Amino acid sequence: MTPERFETWLTVDRKGLYCRPGGFHIDPYGGAKRAVVTHGHSDHARPGHDHVLATRETLGVMQVRLGKTAQKESQAVAYGERVSIGDVAVTLFPAGHVLGSAQVLIEWKGARAVVSGDYKRSSDPTCLGFELVPCHLFITEATFALPVFQHGDASEEAAKLLKSRAQFPDRAHVVGVYGLGKCQRLIALLRGAGYDRPIYLHGALSECCALYESFGVRLGALKPATGAPRDELKGQIVLAPPSAIADRWSRRLPDPVTAFASGWMRVRARARQQGVELPLVISDHADWRELVATIAETGAEEVWVTHGREDALLHHIETSGLRGRALALIGREDEDQ
Ligand SMILES: [Zn+2]
Ligand SMILES: [Zn+2]
Repeated sequence: MTPERFETWLTVDRKGLYCRPGGFHIDPYGGAKRAVVTHGHSDHARPGHDHVLATRETLGVMQVRLGKTAQKESQAVAYGERVSIGDVAVTLFPAGHVLGSAQVLIEWKGARAVVSGDYKRSSDPTCLGFELVPCHLFITEATFALPVFQHGDASEEAAKLLKSRAQFPDRAHVVGVYGLGKCQRLIALLRGAGYDRPIYLHGALSECCALYESFGVRLGALKPATGAPRDELKGQIVLAPPSAIADRWSRRLPDPVTAFASGWMRVRARARQQGVELPLVISDHADWRELVATIAETGAEEVWVTHGREDALLHHIETSGLRGRALALIGREDEDQ
């Protein structure tokens, strides 16, 4: 086979990554004719496309978060279901990032390209685990692509939170979490550790939790934090969007311990700067080891890096004898770490 170089049919234009023989963009900026969307985070699922192909779960997230502006038409596909778009075949595989998240396999003239979207390899009870897809071109994220990023075991971080709660039974623990994915994963981790009390939610988090429940992810008893009497919140765990933990909103909680669940909490200075007393290193992105291992396991001879800290990863790719390229797509990482 003399394959056409990937650059000739997978291009980058104003709207982002474009598959020419398929006539569609992947995770484009607003207003694409045809979009394949990897997952529901706002830096990937944008409003205003004419047609969106995604998993049922991702379309559900887009409906909840974007409402009428989500898209004009949509097509839900199951993981592993191979569909033709234009001259290419497209198949979605689990990415292990958040509920409904998918890697996109694009096959054209015998060449296989995989767009990973965001992904992680560690276990997450709230979504299907990452599935390795052999390919010639692997397009990877690089959010935590520095060797210092090694995420460790998320359940140990949940145990830290429970230990702190036992230590300070009269204080509330307010934990900053991103609304899609991190919130539900932390709840599931706490449930897995045997914590069965109600977990209190900032109003901005309730819709996504309800959506997870509607897809069969059990989260246990959840209660609105707003309107709950101050005394009731003593000794409780309260989840809130990161913007709310340092805000007036959390000041009415009883003597709150401020926590934040994010891969960035590995960086102590960042935690301090944000006034986080209890940093919880829980990430929904691949860490350095996972990125490096995944690139090797796909068998790809060419690797493109979409967003994040691409320099170290590109260096690694090239010293491994693979062809590397930075796509430098802008506007990523708005939301989810
Ligand atoms: Zn994401
Ligand atoms: Zn992202």
